[in-house]
Order: sequence, then structure tokens, then C-alpha cells
Amino acid sequence: MDAGDIRSAYLKFYAARGHTPIGRASLVPRSDPTTLFNGSGMQQLLPYLLGAEHPDGNRLVDSQPCVRVQDIEEVGDNRHTTFFEMLGNWSLGDYFKAEQIPWFWEFLTEVVGLDPSRIYVSCFAGDESNGIPKDTESAAIWQALFEAAEINAERVDLGTEHDGGELGNHGARIAFYGGKNWWCRAGAAEAMPVGEPGGPDSEVFYLYPDVVHDGAYGKFCHQNCDCGRYIELGNSVFMQYVRTEGGFATLPRKNVDYGGGLERIAAAAIDSPDVFRSSLLWPIVEQLSTLTGKSYDTHTTAMRVLADHLRGAVFLAVDGVLPSNKEQGYVLRRLVRRATRFAFELGVEENFLHKVVPTIADLYRDAYPELADRHDEVVAVLVKEEKAFRQTLRRGLRELVRMSDRLVTGDDLFVLYDTYGFPVELSVEEARSSDIALSEHWRPEFERCMRVQRERSRAANKMHL
Ligand code: ATP
Ligand code: MG
Repeated sequence: MDAGDIRSAYLKFYAARGHTPIGRASLVPRSDPTTLFNGSGMQQLLPYLLGAEHPDGNRLVDSQPCVRVQDIEEVGDNRHTTFFEMLGNWSLGDYFKAEQIPWFWEFLTEVVGLDPSRIYVSCFAGDESNGIPKDTESAAIWQALFEAAEINAERVDLGTEHDGGELGNHGARIAFYGGKNWWCRAGAAEAMPVGEPGGPDSEVFYLYPDVVHDGAYGKFCHQNCDCGRYIELGNSVFMQYVRTEGGFATLPRKNVDYGGGLERIAAAAIDSPDVFRSSLLWPIVEQLSTLTGKSYDTHTTAMRVLADHLRGAVFLAVDGVLPSNKEQGYVLRRLVRRATRFAFELGVEENFLHKVVPTIADLYRDAYPELADRHDEVVAVLVKEEKAFRQTLRRGLRELVRMSDRLVTGDDLFVLYDTYGFPVELSVEEARSSDIALSEHWRPEFERCMRVQRERSRAANKMHL
């Protein structure tokens, strides 16, 4: 099964279990000014998880394109991209753990065909100080599923420290963690205001036994170890508690909120720990190889960054974002400029985005035809940005090198930003990778320059009034 097949099979599987497929939300949330992008499937459903009636009923399923700018630094590893699709299913006061866990297991093992013996899970360890019990219910459901598949379902308590290593988890099938497996909007149980819902979650991981554990991440490897041996495929949140004046009480209307990474499940389906090998990214990588004459094996990071950023940029442009110096527009600008910079490093000195957009649109011909429909517009937006940046890229890089015979300050980064259009993060990355000495106060220095410029232009505007 390729990623497209998995997406359709998922929607069909849950539709057969009474779920209404709902359309994707725009990457730019229409009614939530607190966040720049939809970063998970549940974002558009928050009002319904909090109690409103959904017009399509209480069982919903979708695949939601997501952007997580906060993961930009991770792009280059085998499993994080700034843009990805999240498969989601929801129960709004309807079914609960006894259905959710076995369905997801069935989907992964019987529909996608993953090896059950490589599936590992985590459950909530409980929170004594807040009087929230351990999620033994979910663990018991998992245990029964593993046992039915003749898999030893050893359980290990990892306590609340999130560090399986210290507590000696050697491949426990069901691992209990503390805060890591607690979901609430406030982040931690004690930070939740009265009236706020929350609950335990249960994550599912796929083990890649050939990946060698990297001791830099801890003595032992375990579900939440970041070395990349265990890859999280999906997470089921069980909203079952509400904070009250007197502690935590059970919610009368319990919800399930499940989200899983389509590219990660698709990579698992071809037994690869590398999401870039999945069918939604690999054709982009292949085209980049052809365009640059460089191989993925020797230029892995650059190719991953390029494939991810270009795909993300296309989706942002499709959803109406235009490059600018603020908010969503700045993120789009940053993706295009960073991609241009990485391509430059691979020897691409000519404009090339127009060649990659059709490949990306083609990957989503069935699921998101709006990419093909808006192809010309998207190309125009991205190419304009690429051209503008490419003209100054070389001069900007030269300027940075010229500055580097001394400590580079935030004021210098401001010059690069203002004169050459270098997003500040890109200059910092450039300086770090070229061992250029950078002032440790570059950020406040840069921000001060930005403030001064803003005040100046405000004053200038006033004069014109
Ligand atoms: P991780 O710890 O691997 O970063 P997460 O805890 O941030 O994952 P969730 O917020 O639970 O992930 O999101 C649900 C699912 O979405 C994950 O199980 C994963 O499959 C997928 N996912 C999350 N972040 C990314 C990303 N940056 N790129 C690709 N898939 C992702
Ligand atoms: Mg994450």
C-alpha cells in the first residue's frame, strides 16, 4: 500500500464503523488567532471536543494537512517534516477505549499489514499528586490484543520522569509514562484551570530493530527515546477528566481524539524508518536528484529539507498564503528562501521551483485536486519569491563571510535581513554551519534593530498623513 492507498483505506475503514468523513481545514485557521497554522487534526474540532454539537454527528474521520514550524529544526532526521498529513478519527461522547484501541490495531496490522510483533505502545502512568489514576484500562486492552497475537505483553512502569533509560526499560511492550502521556491544552495537569478537560493518551510506535540505538539519547532505548529506533505512528487521546475545585472528576461526555502521521504509517508499510521514502515524498527527492545530479545517500539532509520545504510551500500557497515579512507569510518566505539556499549548496544556481511544483501537484491529484487547479498561481507566487531571493543570495552570503573576520552581531544580521532578505534564522544557521563567530546576544540585538526600524517607519507614515 502506498500513502494514497493508506489514506483512502483509513477513511473507508472508519466510515464502515459509522464515521462521517469531513473535509480538510485550511492550513491557516480561520477562527483561531492564537496559532498561525493548523498543526493537528483536532484543531478544527476543538469546539466540538469541548461540547458543541457537530453537524456531521459524533463519529468523524479525516486526513488533515498540518504545518508545524516548531519542527523545522528537526527536518533532516528520518521522521519530522514541517508539513505532513495527520489521519484523524473522533468520538464525540460516543465510543471510547474499548473500540478505539482495537480498531487502530486492526487498521495497522490487518489493513496496512504492519508486523504486530514490532508494535509497541505507551500508556499514562497516573499522577498521584493530582489524584489521577494510572490508565490500566487502556493497558489491559492492549495486553489482550498482544496476547491474542501471541506477543509477550510485558508492562513496565516508567514513572513520571519520562526517562525509560534510568528505570531500565528493556523493550517493554506496554510502557507507562507520566506527563508525556497526559493531554490537556495547558500542557500539564497542575496548570489546568477549573472546568478544563484533559485525559490520558496512548501512543503507538513501530520498532525498527536494525536502527542502532544512539547512546547520546540515554543509556537504554525505549518508546519515547529520540534516537529514531522507535517511531511514533499515532496517538489516541482519551478526554475523560475535568478539573474541578476539589481535584479531577470524570467527564460525563467522554471523547476520543486520535491523530496519526500518514507519511510515518506509509513508511512503516514499506518497512522504512525514513518518511522521505514514502510515496508522498520520494518522487520529489528523485526529481531533486535528477535536477542536481546529487544522490540522496550522500546529500540526505539537504534533500530532505528541500523536499519538505517545497511541499510545505506549495500547500501554503494553495491555501492563499503570500510571502511577506510577518506571520504565515514569513513562514512561507522562510521555507522558500531556505530551500533556495539548500539548493544553491547542491549546485542549483538557476531558478527551479517551477519544475518541482507539477511533481508535487501530481502526488495529490486525487486527494487535493486544488493543487493542480491552482498550479499556475502557485508557481507565480513561489517563482517570484525564488527569483527575488536568488538575486541577492550570492551577495548576501559574500557579505556574511566578509563580516566574519570579527564577531557577527545581531545588528549585522539585521543588515543581511534588511538589505539581502535573509531570514534571520537562515543567517544564524549559515553562521553556525560555517563556524562564524556569532554574538551570543544576537537575538536581542536583532530585535532592537527591528524595533528601531519599525518606529522610524511609523514616524515617517505620520509625517505623510
Ligand atoms: P514526535 O514525538 O515524533 O515529534 P508528536 O508527539 O509531536 O510526535 P503528535 O503531536 O502526537 O506527535 O501528533 C500525532 C502524530 O502525527 C504523531 O504520532 C506522528 O505520527 C505525526 N507527526 C507529528 N509531528 C510530525 C512531523 N513533524 N512530521 C511528520 N509526522 C509527524
Ligand atoms: Mg513532535
